[in-house]
Amino acid sequence: MESSPASLAELPVVVVGAGPSGLAAAAHLLENGLEPLVLEAGPQVGAAIREWGHIKLFSPWRYNIDAAAAKLLEPTGWEPPRATALPTGAELVRDYLEPLARTPELGDRIRTDHRVLAISRGTRDKTHVAARAGQPFVLQVAHSGQVLQLQARAVIDASGTWGTPNPIGSAGLPALGEDHPAVAARLLGSLPDVLGAQAARLRGRHTLVVGAGHSAINTLLNLAALRREDPATRISWAIRGASAERVYGGGDADQLPARGALVQRLRRLVEGGEITLVTEAEVHALSVAESSDRESGVRESGGDPDDDAALPALEVALADGRRLRADHLAAATGFRPQLQMLRELRLELDPAVESPRRLATLIDPEFHSCGTVEAHGADVLAHPEEGFFLAGMKSYGRAPTFLLATGYEQVRSIAAHLAGADAAAAARDLNLPETGVCSGVGAPDPEESPSCGVPEPSSPAQNQAQMPASSCSSPAPEPVAAGSRIGASTGVLHGRTG
Ligand SMILES: Cc1cc2nc3c(=O)[nH]c(=O)nc-3n(C[C@H](O)[C@H](O)[C@H](O)COP(=O)(O)OP(=O)(O)OC[C@H]3O[C@@H](n4cnc5c(N)ncnc54)[C@H](O)[C@@H]3O)c2cc1C
Repeated sequence: MESSPASLAELPVVVVGAGPSGLAAAAHLLENGLEPLVLEAGPQVGAAIREWGHIKLFSPWRYNIDAAAAKLLEPTGWEPPRATALPTGAELVRDYLEPLARTPELGDRIRTDHRVLAISRGTRDKTHVAARAGQPFVLQVAHSGQVLQLQARAVIDASGTWGTPNPIGSAGLPALGEDHPAVAARLLGSLPDVLGAQAARLRGRHTLVVGAGHSAINTLLNLAALRREDPATRISWAIRGASAERVYGGGDADQLPARGALVQRLRRLVEGGEITLVTEAEVHALSVAESSDRESGVRESGGDPDDDAALPALEVALADGRRLRADHLAAATGFRPQLQMLRELRLELDPAVESPRRLATLIDPEFHSCGTVEAHGADVLAHPEEGFFLAGMKSYGRAPTFLLATGYEQVRSIAAHLAGADAAAAARDLNLPETGVCSGVGAPDPEESPSCGVPEPSSPAQNQAQMPASSCSSPAPEPVAAGSRIGASTGVLHGRTG
C-alpha cells in the first residue's frame, strides 16, 4: 500500500540506538517539533557503553552532555555532574543517559529490546529510485523473538560500532578458526574488565593481548596489576611492528605527562620481562590445543566444561610459522560499522573508511592521526537516500577518532534539516578548542579500539583550554598547540600507501 504525503508526515523519525548520539538526536527532533521513536537493541539505554563501563572517559562532563538533552533534564531536578570531572562509562550511563531516558518527553519514545535488522523504503527494492521517492522507510525489527515491520518518515542510524569489532586476522579478515565456538570462548573482547568482572578468570592465567593502541596498553597495564596479586599470571603482547618504539612514543619527552607515564610503565614491564613482547606478529589461525602447556606444567584437555581453567589452551599460529599459546586472547583491533542492515538503502560511503564520503576526507585515519574534526552536519552526512543519516560513532565508519561533542552537533543539524530549518541545519554550532599536538607520537592506529583510563585534569582552567583530540589517541586531554588547525592532517607520514 502506498502512503500519501500526509501519512508520511505523521510517521515518526526513527532513531536506531539509544546511546548518547541516539538520545541526543531524539532530544533535537523534539526541539524541532518532530516525533522521534528510538529503537534500542539492548535491554537498557546505553547498552554498548555499559560493556565498557569500567573505563574512564578522557573528555570531561562538559563535553559529554548534549545541549537539547540538558534542556529536557533541567526541569526534572537533575543535577549536572561537575563539568571538569571525567566520568567512567558506567557513570555516563547512570548520571546522564538513564535520567535522560526517564524524562517525560523521552520515556515513552524509547523502545528497548528492539534490534533493527534491515532498513528499506516503500515497496520496491533500491534499484527503483523513482518509485521509492517520498515513500516511508520500512524497518524490520527483532523484538521478543518476533520480527516486526515499522514505518518511518526518516531514519537516523546512531547504532555505533561497538557490536562489530574488527577481526583478529591479517588483511582485515578473521583468522582461520576465529569463529569456532571453542576459540570464541577464549576471546575476551576489546576492553576486558581485567581488574573487575574478569579478574577471577584471568588471575594466574596466561593472556595474549593483540594490538598496539591505547586499548591494548590499558589491558596490559591492568594485567600487570593482576600479576602483582598473583605472579603466576602471564602476559604476552603481540604487535605487527618490528619493535614497540612507536607505541612507547616520546616517553619522558612526551608533551602529555599522563601518556608518557603510561607508556613508560609499559616499557619497564616489557624490559623487565613481566610482559613478553612478540613483534611482527600477523595472526593467521586460531585453534584450541590438544593440551595446555603452561609454565605450571602440561595439562591434558578435558575436565569440567563449565570450568574455564579446565579448557585447553588457545593456540595462535602466526603467518611466519611461529606458534603461541595462551589461555585467553584480548584483541584490541578496533571496530567497523555494521552495514548489512543498510543494504537496501542508497548510501554514498567512502570505500575505505566506510563513513559518508564527504566526512571521510576529514577523518581518514591514514591522513588524520588525531586532531578534532571540523564541525559538520546534515549536508556532509547526506546520502542519495534522502531522509537517511548515519550519526554518532557509526558515522565515522572505521575511523577511531569520534567525539561525542561532534556527534551532538551532527544530530542538531540533522534534526534541523528534517524539520526544514535549513539555515539552522547549515549553521555550525560547535566550538572545540584547537588541537594538533599529537601527530605521530601515540597516534591512533585505525585498527585499534579507543580506550581511556585517565587521571582527571589538574585544574578547571586546564579544561577550559582543552578538548581531547580523539576518542582513542590520548589517555589524557590534549593540550592545545598555539596556532594549530582544527583537524590538522598529519600529511604524508600517514598518507595512503596503497
Ligand atoms: C572505551 C571508549 C572510551 C571512549 N571515550 C570517549 C571520550 O572520552 N570522549 C568522547 O567524546 N568519546 C569517547 N568515546 C567514543 C564515543 O563517544 C563512544 O563510543 C560513544 O559511546 C558513542 O556513542 P553512540 O551513541 O554514537 O554509540 P553507542 O554508545 O555505541 O550506542 C549505540 C547504541 O545502539 C545500539 N544498537 C546497536 N545496533 C543496533 C541495532 N541494530 N538496532 C537497535 N539498536 C542498536 C547499541 O546497543 C547501543 O546502545 C569512547 C569510546 C570507547 C569505546
